[in-house]
Amino acid sequence: MPAKVIDGTALAAKANQDVQKRVAEMLSVGRRVALAAILVGSTPAGELYAERQSQACKAVGIDYSLRKLPANASGTSVAHLIHTLNNDTAITGIMLHLPIPAHLDATELQYQIHPVKDVEGVNPANIGHVVYGHTLIAPCTALAVLELIESTGVSLRGAEAVVVGASEIAGKPISLLLTQRLATVTLCHIATRDLPLHTRRAEVLVVAAGKPGLITQDHVKDGAVVIDVGINRITQSDGSRKTVGDVDFDTVSRRAAFITPVPGGVGPMTVAMLLKNTLRSAELASASEIRNH
Ligand code: NAD
Repeated sequence: MPAKVIDGTALAAKANQDVQKRVAEMLSVGRRVALAAILVGSTPAGELYAERQSQACKAVGIDYSLRKLPANASGTSVAHLIHTLNNDTAITGIMLHLPIPAHLDATELQYQIHPVKDVEGVNPANIGHVVYGHTLIAPCTALAVLELIESTGVSLRGAEAVVVGASEIAGKPISLLLTQRLATVTLCHIATRDLPLHTRRAEVLVVAAGKPGLITQDHVKDGAVVIDVGINRITQSDGSRKTVGDVDFDTVSRRAAFITPVPGGVGPMTVAMLLKNTLRSAELASASEIRNH
């Protein structure tokens, strides 16, 4: 039987509805949810992404403001803007658009975002909270992967889970959240000696390597849940461009029980998790304000 396709777009729409409802409840007691996004250097892709983000925020009632800095902005000036936003009580969430110009250190700048306002969950304090099981704000892509797996009804407790790709933005946080759900986790990367040996054991297989076609049906156990995080632009034989994941969807969907498509899987869910985290930041700020009164 072909795999059931996990509809990330539909699940994201449902998650957005919940966020919209809670944002409206906050507004009704005079609390605004406001995301400030920093864009250093203007590129068509960066502007387009920011515009889409602005629309996604507006659709759920979140205020969105884009703070643009020139491509030659110094690290000190970007850090200064982050600190200003950290101290601005009208701003409840902050994010830094990546990629940023090569002379800047993205990680160093993300460290400057206050952990409560860190809607992408990229500050090391937030990763540390996940490790200790007191999650404040978890990284968006990892949250998206968890929600997509949970939508299948397959239990993670005790399950063999294999993650391919060990980056800070995707693979490592995904493996942390899977560990937190008591899956037995194997984290594979470029130095893994025999990739199929590991992936074929997986009841839950998450792939985040950025390598189109890396995972074929020979890598997959019958009945597995396959989550494809990869987003790759490829040129087809007729010269047209297409977005694909890391998983060979056509063959793997004959073997898996559940599979996410690309596009329409992890991508929209990650945007939904950014909105959910933005709401959470505002709720955390609001709770600490109430405590401090
Ligand atoms: P990265 O280049 O930072 O990391 C890639 C990881 O994959 C590394 O750990 C590397 O060791 C591993 N890897 C590479 N080739 C491998 C191979 N042949 N076998 C085993 N492991 C291998 O990439 P990233 O930022 O983590 O992104 C990975 C992919 O996920 C990209 O396609 C990216 O566009 C996509 N992505 C999607 C989202 C989303 O929201 N949907 C978010 C982040 C990243």
